[in-house]
Amino acid sequence: MKVVICGGGIIGASIAYHLALKGVKSTIIERCALACAASGKAGGFLARDWCDHFEVGPLARKSFDMHMTFAKDERFQHCGYRVMDAIGVTVKEGNETKCKNLPIWLNGSVIETSTLGDKTTTAQVYPDKLTHAFFNIAKDLVNTELKIANVQGIETTGSKVTGVKTSTGVVTADVIIIAMGPWSGEAMKWFNLPPVTGHRAHNVILKPSHTISAHACFVEFTGKTGSRHSPEVYPRPDGTVYLCGMSDEEELPSNPEEVSYNPESCTILKQMIANMSSSLRDATVVTERGCYLPIPPASLPVIGSLPGTGGLYLATGHSCWGILNAPATGEAIAQLIVNGECSVCDISPFSPARLTK
Ligand SMILES: Cc1cc2nc3c(=O)[nH]c(=O)nc-3n(C[C@H](O)[C@H](O)[C@H](O)COP(=O)(O)OP(=O)(O)OC[C@H]3O[C@@H](n4cnc5c(N)ncnc54)[C@H](O)[C@@H]3O)c2cc1C
Repeated sequence: MKVVICGGGIIGASIAYHLALKGVKSTIIERCALACAASGKAGGFLARDWCDHFEVGPLARKSFDMHMTFAKDERFQHCGYRVMDAIGVTVKEGNETKCKNLPIWLNGSVIETSTLGDKTTTAQVYPDKLTHAFFNIAKDLVNTELKIANVQGIETTGSKVTGVKTSTGVVTADVIIIAMGPWSGEAMKWFNLPPVTGHRAHNVILKPSHTISAHACFVEFTGKTGSRHSPEVYPRPDGTVYLCGMSDEEELPSNPEEVSYNPESCTILKQMIANMSSSLRDATVVTERGCYLPIPPASLPVIGSLPGTGGLYLATGHSCWGILNAPATGEAIAQLIVNGECSVCDISPFSPARLTK
């Protein structure tokens, strides 16, 4: 069985890893580099029960537990997994804080806080390191390959896939998985499916000179002019602090290497966060970037085989929870390929079949 995975983000890498655990070698075809898009630039925040009221809830719970299991495996030790607290923080620019018992670094215009998660329900990981770890372990186990090329089409004979057309020629395949994040939308159009689209958000990494405790902050910010935004703050184990938010409507470029960012959006992110913490206000800026969420049709990820096209699978559209949900997605697709059925959790709500109706 020749398995080709299109896309080297965390979803493609997790599928390769879970196939490798079952003794199946695959080839990832990636246009630029492993984790070059959102999977290398995301926050890496994980929550056990925040999706409970949605169809994705069981996938999230299963994935959260799988992340915990990886953390006990020495091959994943460098991926920075740690449990953390999560708090809601209301910031009003120019106001004095009246809140008590806040983490010491939250010394700015914080007028209200709430508990959103604790060390049993929320955690974090470095997404880029985890993506690379999935691939490297698969490579060690079964010699999984990475091929740098641009996926341009799928070849079929009758109703079965036979290969992937790429910028460097056709790669033959019995099984093909589309896992190209927001760029999966282009491939979905080849099969007349409503496409996954991309939605840009910004992120900034700061290096403060003080220690910042492990509190993920979900901020409701109101500026003096009445402007409102909801940035997120994730302190990391290496002493840096990841900020994200400020999404916009910038169109997805066809080449992932051409993803850009708006410096003004990053400036606003930093200014908002400066209002809640002098340590973050005075921190050194390490990186400013943009990246795209893969937004699925009908708000649900697309995971499973495409009826009518033998050997074709989709694993995409994970929106703002792709790092969290990569483990169970990878295991689900690997089980479908190897066993023909999935026992990870009920993935029927995510079936590509729903998009063909
Ligand atoms: C600012 C931000 C913060 C986030 N924070 C979190 C978080 O804290 N927790 C969480 O769970 N999720 C988070 N997410 C969401 C998460 O990043 C995504 O859901 C996840 O990375 C999607 O992974 P993917 O593998 O599907 O896609 P991607 O990471 O986009 O990977 C797709 C890959 O396909 C490749 N590709 C594209 N076109 C082609 C082609 N034609 N040929 C070959 N290869 C191609 C690309 O180069 C890319 O490497 C965040 C997202 C953003 C934007």
